[in-house]
This record gives sequence, C-alpha cells and structure tokens, in this order.
Amino acid sequence: MHDFIVVGGGPSGSYCSQHLASKGFNVVQLEEHQSIGKPVECTGLVSKRVVSMVKTESIVNRVHGANVFFPDGNHIQIGKEEETIVLERDRFDQDVAAMAISRGVELRLNARVNDIKTSDENVKVTFRDDGNLKEIRAHGIIGADGANSITRKILFPDQRLSRVVSAYQIDSAKKLDDQDNVNVYLGSQYSRGYFAWGTPAGDFSRLGTAGFGLSREKFKNLYKKFLEPNKVSITGGPIPISFLKKPFGERSLLVGDAAGIVKPLSGGGIYTGMVSGEKAAIAMEMAYERENFSGKFLSLYNRLWKREIGRELKRDYRIQKMYAKITDYSFNSIGQSITSERIKRIINTVGDIDYPSRVVFSIMLRRPSIIRNVLFPRKKIDEE
Ligand SMILES: Cc1cc2nc3c(=O)[nH]c(=O)nc-3n(C[C@H](O)[C@H](O)[C@H](O)COP(=O)(O)OP(=O)(O)OC[C@H]3O[C@@H](n4cnc5c(N)ncnc54)[C@H](O)[C@@H]3O)c2cc1C
Repeated sequence: MHDFIVVGGGPSGSYCSQHLASKGFNVVQLEEHQSIGKPVECTGLVSKRVVSMVKTESIVNRVHGANVFFPDGNHIQIGKEEETIVLERDRFDQDVAAMAISRGVELRLNARVNDIKTSDENVKVTFRDDGNLKEIRAHGIIGADGANSITRKILFPDQRLSRVVSAYQIDSAKKLDDQDNVNVYLGSQYSRGYFAWGTPAGDFSRLGTAGFGLSREKFKNLYKKFLEPNKVSITGGPIPISFLKKPFGERSLLVGDAAGIVKPLSGGGIYTGMVSGEKAAIAMEMAYERENFSGKFLSLYNRLWKREIGRELKRDYRIQKMYAKITDYSFNSIGQSITSERIKRIINTVGDIDYPSRVVFSIMLRRPSIIRNVLFPRKKIDEE
C-alpha cells in the first residue's frame, strides 16, 4: 500500500507530491496524458514568487509593465519595477514534475483515474493503464486533476465550482514588437465580464480572451485585430474563479483548479495551486502522524491555505463580481481618470499580480469616481 496518491500531473499535483515525498512518504502520482504539460492551456504569466519555488529553465520572457486598452481605443501604459515572468508552460510543468521524481515520487503516465472509493481503512483508486484497469490503495488521496476534476465529481458530488470563465488562446508565431509589456484589452468587443490579452513570449505571442459564456465572436475580433497572427495552435479551457467551501473530506483533499483555488481577477492559478499543494502536503502529514484521516481533522487544510492566500482570493472575488458588470462607457471614464503620473506611481509600487486587491483599493481611495463607475456602471444611450 502507498502512503498517498496524487491525481494529476499539473503544477499543483507535482508540487504537492514533491512536498510529501520530501517528508519521506511513499507517493504515487497518476497523470492521464502520456507526457507532462501537454496540451498547453496557459499564457504562462507568473510572478517571481513562482520561479523561486521551482528551479526552472522555462522562462521565455520577462515583462515590466502593461498596456491597458480601453473600449474607446485610449490606452495607458503602466510600468513596474518588479518583473513578471512569461513561462513556456509545458516545460515548467515538466520541471515541477522533475522535482517530484527526484524526491522519489512514482509518476505514472497514461494513467487515467476513473474510480475512487474511501473506507475506514484506506482509499482505493482504479485507473486505466494502457487500456488495462489497475487498482492501488493508499492512506490518503489529493485531487489535483484540474477544473474538470474526477476526484471532485466522485468524492465531493455536492460541491460545484460556482463561477467559471471560458478562455480561448492562439499561440502565434508573430513576434510582438513590444516585448516589455503585456497588452490587456477591456470591454465588450473582446470579452464578456473579463478581459483579453496579447502577451509577448519571445519569438511567439499569445493572444487570448476569457469571459462568461464567451462566444467565439469575441475571440474572432481579437484574432482579426492582429491581422495575420500566424497561428501555431488554438487552445482553451475553463478557469474556475471561485473556490469550494469544503475541499476536504474523509482521506481526501482537493488542490489547485480542482478546488477552484485560482486568482479571480486574472485567472492565474499556477501560484495559488502550488501554495494549496504545499498546504495539502502539510495537512496530510499531520493526519498521518495522528492516524486521523477524518474530514473533520483534514479541515485543517482549509485554514492553512486560506491563511496564506484566502483573504486575497475573497477580496478579488468580490472585486471581480463588480468588475464583470462594468460597461464600456464606465471603462472609458475609468481610463480617463487614471492617466496621472501619481496613479501610475501607485500602480508601480503597490501592484502585485498575486495580490491585486491592494492596488485596486489604493487607486479607488484616490479616485472615488472609479468607485461610482464600478458600483453604478453607466451606459451610453446607444449601449442600452
Ligand atoms: C487560456 C488559459 C490561460 C491561462 N494563463 C495563466 C497564466 O498566465 N498564469 C497562471 O498562473 N495561470 C494561468 N491559467 C490557469 C492555469 O493554467 C491553471 O490554474 C493551472 O494549470 C492549474 O494547475 P493544476 O495543477 O491545478 O491543474 P492542471 O494544470 O489542469 O493539471 C491537472 C492535471 O490533471 C490531469 N488529469 C485530469 N483528469 C485526470 C484523471 N482522471 N486521471 C489522471 N489525471 C488527470 C490533467 O491531464 C492535468 O495534467 C490559464 C488558464 C487558461 C485556460
């Protein structure tokens, strides 16, 4: 029997299993695909915190600011002293998995989990291994199997990801001239309740949009904007932006996208997923020491991850709900009110992609008109 089973070979799963293995546990990690990191469904933007957690050579660019485009075509450039990293996501996932393997994790590829049963004695997982059904047992299980998590569906049937955006992205062989700024497009032309982006990733660029019930129309608008984007691939997927109330149960925990532990404002889930993976490893270690794998004891996991990022995710969630209702007219008014050097300086000093609420509140305090536009979004007559 194994000590722990981790389902999913993404960053949350591998980071969790490497922490468990480094505590001396016998860990098996199951990944349904035949290689780690494929297919890529990500822009790869992360803070420096992430690359301090993983030794990686997947960095393809470092950006220091953003061009934010408003619906009327107006744009502001925001600089940042602190760099934001652009990763080659498949390579990054492989580096996290390599850390896990080097700690002794048994990583099994082509291993698709299709059933899980917990009992007083253990957890039993059935998975498809090259067409054959296999069974393994362990003391505990961590579901790190993404937004469509089968672990969640089987073990947490009464819990749903209540707020999910859909995202589409083109990876393009067209190199963006400005390699130092991410482009962010606000408004209804490209998104519904979220935003679109164009990210310079060295010789490539990544053009994407996310939104609620997003139609392909918005994606086409973005695609057309870049005229000949020299498409290499089109990817996309759901991004859960609200976390589950109880991602813990008998012998089981959910981490990362499987639990909706993602930044609501940006859809970034690599950092938050890895933080939750680490906290899940700590909770499971304590459960093992006390021989207590009850859901009640494992609720400790919720306190651990929330202590680090819970408050931020809650704030961001509230801000995102208001943001989603902002009209093009109000976006334009906001754009006109944040052009001053003073506001740009605030963004520069307080801005942090992992903790964005700080900068939002700092700007709102100095520009009360933004609060009005966010709380009472206005429409121009022809927008009605
Ligand atoms: C278009 C797009 C752009 C994004 N851009 C960014 C960004 O710039 N920065 C950022 O931080 N985040 C970004 N995200 C979000 C980020 O990709 C996720 O939050 C992150 O991948 C979550 O990691 P995870 O390990 O929790 O889940 P995943 O990366 O989804 O990994 C889950 C793994 O589980 C495996 N799996 C699933 N089911 C089973 C099964 N039954 N059996 C075995 N294995 C299974 C899957 O194959 C997968 O490998 C983006 C998302 C999208 C869709």
